[in-house]
Order: sequence, then structure tokens, then C-alpha cells
Amino acid sequence: MTTIGFIGLGNMGGPMAANLLKAGHQVRGYDLSEDALLELKQAGGVPASSIATVVSGADVVVSMLPAGTHVRKVYMGDDGILANVSKGTLLIDSSTIDVQSARDVAAAASDAGMHMVDAPVSGGVGGATAGTLTFMVGGADEAFAAAKPYLDIMGKAIIHAGGAGNGQAAKICNNMMLGIQMISVCEAFALAEKLGLDHQKLYDISSTASGQCWSLTSYCPVPGPVEASPANRDYQPGFAAAMMLKDLNLSQDASKAVGAQTPLGKQATALYNAFCDEGNEGVDFSGIINKLR
Ligand code: NAD
Repeated sequence: MTTIGFIGLGNMGGPMAANLLKAGHQVRGYDLSEDALLELKQAGGVPASSIATVVSGADVVVSMLPAGTHVRKVYMGDDGILANVSKGTLLIDSSTIDVQSARDVAAAASDAGMHMVDAPVSGGVGGATAGTLTFMVGGADEAFAAAKPYLDIMGKAIIHAGGAGNGQAAKICNNMMLGIQMISVCEAFALAEKLGLDHQKLYDISSTASGQCWSLTSYCPVPGPVEASPANRDYQPGFAAAMMLKDLNLSQDASKAVGAQTPLGKQATALYNAFCDEGNEGVDFSGIINKLR
């Protein structure tokens, strides 16, 4: 049995911590939310009142926080993880954050004598609950090997993307593709409607032709063709438009930082920004079809 400190027990972190508990590990948790701590207790974990209590003596620390500013503070702040953890502890940050913050925190962790990986996820709350997340992992070979048994409990596909920050780079690039592709599928259905082409007919043809992609075949933005799609549930998320916008903004910040050309990523970011501004932050990201019609 391993003692795991878990920081950030929200929509994703809560069920991930529950899966570590189910696998027989001891989990101590810390979150700013009392409700999140109560849920951890109900799942069999030990809630704590500070980062220091959670991480001191822990073998592994996992964090699942909103953004880079939170991760920097929780790891590098005066009362943070690096100030309180024992040397040699394995650190796993699964938050989706900017590449530079991931690399800065990993460098500080390495200087303090820790193994660390950035391990953002794909798969949403459903994947976190079922333990079927995809982890995109950045870090040294030794750190990846040490983290893999724990990631295996919370996920089904664990992919080593290279050195520190490369997990975040993979996540940002993947989700930029997703945002662009979802808009392309929505535009095609909106055009088909005006041309008098039936939704199911377009689906049947494009799902076996060169327009095929995940946004069409697994997450079709019109009701009917794909039963599990949020389109069949009035666009309840799923993956909220605000989360898509967060990841697209990260892609554009990264793109600017390294001088990459991502004109469609830029346009997708502008469209999701406008969609969210119109009060649709909590709507599934495939609901952008209603804006494009
Ligand atoms: P969430 O807001 O539900 O959870 C974040 C938790 O962190 C909250 O409970 C909050 O109280 C806690 N927190 C914030 N600052 C803290 C601090 N200083 N100390 C301790 N706890 C703190 O968010 P979520 O949906 O669980 O997402 C977490 C991360 O996972 C994000 O980076 C998100 O982009 C990423 N992600 C989310 C999804 C999804 O579908 N929700 C999918 C993939 C990736």
C-alpha cells in the first residue's frame, strides 16, 4: 500500500482519487472546497487542512488543479508541495496548464530532488470515474516508469510524450485539432441543412469517406446519428465550451511563444470566445453548431 497525497479534488480529481482508494492505496487529500473534502472522506480517504499535512511522508503526490497559476502556487509557494514534501517523492501533475509553467515547476522539482511528470488527461469526468482516462505524459524515463503504475489505475492509455512539458504540449495540440474539427463538422451539417441534405445521409456518407473524424463519428453535433452525443441531450456537457476555450487559449499562447502558424486555431479560439460570451460557457462544445447555423 502506498500513501498518496491528492491536491485538487474537483470534478476530475475527486473520482481519480476514489479510483486510487479502490485500488487499495491510502489517499490523503486537500482542496479549498469543504464539499470536495467531505466526498473524499465518504470514499474512504483522509481529508487534510493543509498541503503540508497531505504531502509530508507521502510516497506519491497527485495534483488536479484548474490552471497554471494554481499549479505554480501549490508547488512553488511558501507553504506548497516542494517546501514540505520528502526528497525522492514522485510528483504527478494532471492539470491542463501552459507548457512553460509545467517546465518551470518540473525544473524546481528536479532541483529539490524529486521525480516529476506532467500528465494531463483526455476523457472527461466519465473517463475519470470509470478509470479509463488517456494520460499524455512528459518527464524523464525514470519518472515515467515510476508514475505508470498509478496512472494505470486511473487510465487505460498511458503515453510517454517526451521530456518535461511534453504531456501539456500533446494535450494542447490534440485539443486544438478537436476544436477546429468540431467547427468543421458543425459547418458541414449547417450547410447540408440549407442544401436539403438529410443529417443521417451526410453522416452515413462522411463517416465512411474522407471527412471522417472523431467529432463526427463519436461526438456528432446533430441529434440522431451517434447515440452518446450531447446533441441528443440538448447539449448538456460532456465537455463544456468554457473548457474548450481554455485549451484553445493555451494553444494560442503556446503558438505565439514559439512563433508557430496556427490560423485555424486562432479562428476556432475566436469562435469559442464569442460562443462563451453569449452565455454558453456551460453548454457542450458541440453546441456551437447553433451559433454557426
Ligand atoms: P474543478 O474546478 O472541478 O476542480 C479543481 C479543484 O481544485 C477544485 O475543487 C478547487 O477547489 C481546487 N483548487 C483550486 N485551487 C486550489 C488550491 N490552491 N489548493 C487546493 N485545491 C485547489 O476542475 P476539473 O474539471 O476537475 O478540472 C481539473 C483540471 O483537469 C483542469 O486543469 C482541467 O482543464 C482539466 N481537465 C478537465 C476535464 C473535464 O472534463 N472536467 C477534462 C480534461 C482535463
